[in-house]
Amino acid sequence: MSIRTLKSYLEDQLKIYPDIYETENDFNAEFDFAIEVFSGITKKDMILGADISDTQETELKEIFSRRFRTREPLAQILGYCIFMGEKFKVSKHTLIPRPETELLIIKAIEKIKENDYTTVLDIGTGTGCIACMIAKNTQAQVLGLDISNEALHVSLENAMALELMNRAIFRKSDIFSSIDYIHGEKFDMIVSNPPYIPKHIKSSLQPEVRDYEPELALFTEDEYGIENYEKIISQAKNYLKPHGYVLFELGIDQSGIVSDLFKYYGFSEIEIFKDVSGIDRVISARAM
Ligand code: GLN
Repeated sequence: MSIRTLKSYLEDQLKIYPDIYETENDFNAEFDFAIEVFSGITKKDMILGADISDTQETELKEIFSRRFRTREPLAQILGYCIFMGEKFKVSKHTLIPRPETELLIIKAIEKIKENDYTTVLDIGTGTGCIACMIAKNTQAQVLGLDISNEALHVSLENAMALELMNRAIFRKSDIFSSIDYIHGEKFDMIVSNPPYIPKHIKSSLQPEVRDYEPELALFTEDEYGIENYEKIISQAKNYLKPHGYVLFELGIDQSGIVSDLFKYYGFSEIEIFKDVSGIDRVISARAM
């Protein structure tokens, strides 16, 4: 079967499930990614008329049938995703890296390079995508923390696959619990994309997120989704070197309240960066 025929077949199937993809492009992107994973055929090869084998066709039909029927995210079915051009292992214990997180990483890299920083802490590392991409693109060593043992296994595997063994390192920790600041374990920068969705809106989320991504990575108990920001900001100065930075990814409508928290705890140089949709997505602040 040609790739084109497979695609038409799946588009026909999709008519039974009209809610799965918001736009045609979302399906196209998943389709291209799945083809590449299964056959090594890139989009360019596809345009040039490359085809898949019968076995690959059967497997891809099964994968998409599972995707459509169950709403399980494609990344979880395949076991990995592509983030910032790199392949990252994911599991049901880790959040699937989101394109928005790229902005946090870019801003962190800019500040690390400007200031020749060497030590970065990534709180709630999950797949390790933030820790790995910062380590890969700067001279800094990044320590990724997570409360979940399962997530730590995934992050370590990702760092090994990217050959970042001593550059992105990982430790089990509930926020700062395993950092020994009293004996001088301090960092130039703290970054985090913490859980920021208030649990009471769980039912309004799309099934891919609500039913398949780990609760531990998504939700907060408080009404505004800000409890993790406050936990980090309130203690951050103990763990930062003088004038060190804190950078967070933000959820929708959280920039005002997180900015107030930074001011309350004595941070300065507060900056907010918008994502491609115009949403305040990243905030950074500096210890005085
Ligand atoms: N740091 C990881 C990411 O950005 C995990 C974040 C989380 O689980 N909240 O993808």
